Amino acid sequence: METLLNTPNIDLYAVLAILGLFGAVEFILGHYHNTQRSKDDWILESVGFFVVAGTKLLIVFLLVTIADGLFPQASNALQHWSLWLSIPFYLFIDDVAQYWYHRSAHEYEWLWKHHRVHHQAEDMGILTAYRNSWVYYLLMPNLWWGGVATYLGLAPAVIFGLIFKQIIVTSTHSTWKWDKVLYRVKALHPVAWVIEHIFITPAFHFAHHGKSQADHISDPNGNFGNTFSLWDQMFGTAKFTRLYPAEFGLQTDPVDPWYAQLLYPFLKSPKEGSEISKSYKKEKHIGQEPLRTTLEAGSYLYCQCGYSSEQPFCNGAHHGSKFKPLVLDIKKSTKVSLCTCKLSKTPPYCDNSHLKMDVNA
Ligand SMILES: [Zn+2]
Repeated sequence: METLLNTPNIDLYAVLAILGLFGAVEFILGHYHNTQRSKDDWILESVGFFVVAGTKLLIVFLLVTIADGLFPQASNALQHWSLWLSIPFYLFIDDVAQYWYHRSAHEYEWLWKHHRVHHQAEDMGILTAYRNSWVYYLLMPNLWWGGVATYLGLAPAVIFGLIFKQIIVTSTHSTWKWDKVLYRVKALHPVAWVIEHIFITPAFHFAHHGKSQADHISDPNGNFGNTFSLWDQMFGTAKFTRLYPAEFGLQTDPVDPWYAQLLYPFLKSPKEGSEISKSYKKEKHIGQEPLRTTLEAGSYLYCQCGYSSEQPFCNGAHHGSKFKPLVLDIKKSTKVSLCTCKLSKTPPYCDNSHLKMDVNA
């Protein structure tokens, strides 16, 4: 119990030192002169920092209380483990749990509402990492795992792991893109390859924050990893890029107030059409006839989920589902017939599948 109470202090000092270092570099690089952050963003991200710290302590307290009552024999049961064993043991379970939790937050509507605030940020930076609803942090399986591991006697591994994770997470959100040099110098490309295939790099995570796939750099529906890129590679969601998106945030952002973003569902957004407003209803916008039109040269996002109100194009409404849009690259002005019924076997193009639709249904 004594080690447990000391844990957050050491961790807190290390976290502040890491944030201080990256924050100072961001400041020197002029990030805070050019930031697009609104007042609400500043409040949200600063309060978010304390919400994360407080929630971690709450989880450890709850876990110790429950475990002391139910499994007192498990207390410090693994204390004799060496750090060589306990650090990878703690870190890998932590990271795979976070991968699936984060991925679920993009694939299930109810959880997306708690993670969406993370993607509303139009600006990257060390504080962007602290944007999530309180419920998102409270339900994070890896925070609970950290409590379990500490109770089992692995506190030194948990402290090391948390500090290590903090370095990765801060660096992957920071505008100080330390990996840039690896891509610029050709001789360093093999080093870049090895690093990006083990750890999450700024370029890898920035792609997750990019506005849409239309820039051919971003994939907001991929790159879910937190510390290691292993899980994205294993489960088919990795998109390696050595470029950074120019635009971050959501395609359609209702600009919710900070308190609703942080405390949904206890407080809801007054903004009409917002996914976290009281009146929000998710509706499909399926047509029947294809859209016959001429597309000029450029990249287009074709809606595959059917929820976009800008059919047949994507407006970002697929978030919170397993769908993602299809990128349609048009080289020169072309006449197209785009499917709106979503039954076509050759999307985005119409294959007359709509003729089989039951119009009376
Ligand atoms: Zn995300």
